[in-house]
Amino acid sequence: MDWKKLSTTKIYEVYRRLFLTRCYLCNGKCENTLCLPCQEGLSLNTNSCHHCKRPTHTISNLCGQCQTLPPPYHFCIAPYRFEGIVKTLIHNIKFNQGNHYIRPLTYLLSNHLIRTYSSGNWPEQLLYVPSHPNRIKERGFCQTRAMSNHLIKSLQQHIGKECPALPKYNPIQKTKHTKAQHSLSRKERLKSPQNSYKVDTPIAKHVALFDDVMTTGSTVENCAKLLLKAGAERVDVWVIARTPDKEH
Ligand SMILES: [Zn+2]
Ligand SMILES: [Zn+2]
Repeated sequence: MDWKKLSTTKIYEVYRRLFLTRCYLCNGKCENTLCLPCQEGLSLNTNSCHHCKRPTHTISNLCGQCQTLPPPYHFCIAPYRFEGIVKTLIHNIKFNQGNHYIRPLTYLLSNHLIRTYSSGNWPEQLLYVPSHPNRIKERGFCQTRAMSNHLIKSLQQHIGKECPALPKYNPIQKTKHTKAQHSLSRKERLKSPQNSYKVDTPIAKHVALFDDVMTTGSTVENCAKLLLKAGAERVDVWVIARTPDKEH
C-alpha cells in the first residue's frame, strides 16, 4: 500500500470536510452534505405500502401481505428505494470502505424522520440490527452501529433533548452467523433461519429499530417481535432504503 498517497488523501479529505462545503457525491458547492441535483438523483420511495413501505407502482394504502398478516411494528420509515445511486452508496459503505457516504445518507434519513415526527412522540431509544461479531471482525466495523451514531448526531442538532438515546451496548445481538442476505435469492432469504437474534433487557417502552436496507422485511419483523417480547410496547422501524420486489 502506498502510505504516502493514503495519508495525503486522508489529510485532503479532513481539510475538505472542515473548511469547504462541498457535495459528498459530485464535489460541487452546496450548503449541506448533498447538493440538490444529487439528492434528486436518489430514488424516492414515494409509492409504497402505508405500513411496511414495500415499493409499489401506484399509490396504495396497504400491500397484500400487510392486509393478510400485518407486521408487528408500528410503522416503517423507508425514504428511498434500494436501487441506483442509493444502492451504490450503501454497497460502497459495506464493501469498499466508503464510510464517508454514511454522513450524507443518515443526514437525509434524519430529515425524513424530522418531518414524520413533526408533532413529537419520538422513540426513547434507538436500537439497530447488528451484524454478527464474525462479520464485524471481517469488515472491521459494524455499519449499522456507525450509521446509528451519525444518525443520532444529525438528529441531536435539530431536536435536542427529544432525540432518542443510543445505548452504548446495543441490546440486540446476532447469535447465528448466517449467509449474507445479499448473496441469497429471495426464496433462500425467506427460508433463512429467523431465530438468529436475541434481545437483552431492559429496553425502553417506545423504541426505534434501525437497519440500513430492508429487503423481504423478515429481519426487522423478527427483531421487532423480540423487542415486543422483551418489554417494548411500540417499535418504529427506520431504514434508509427498501428493496423493490422483483416479482411486481
Ligand atoms: Zn452533488
Ligand atoms: Zn405492506
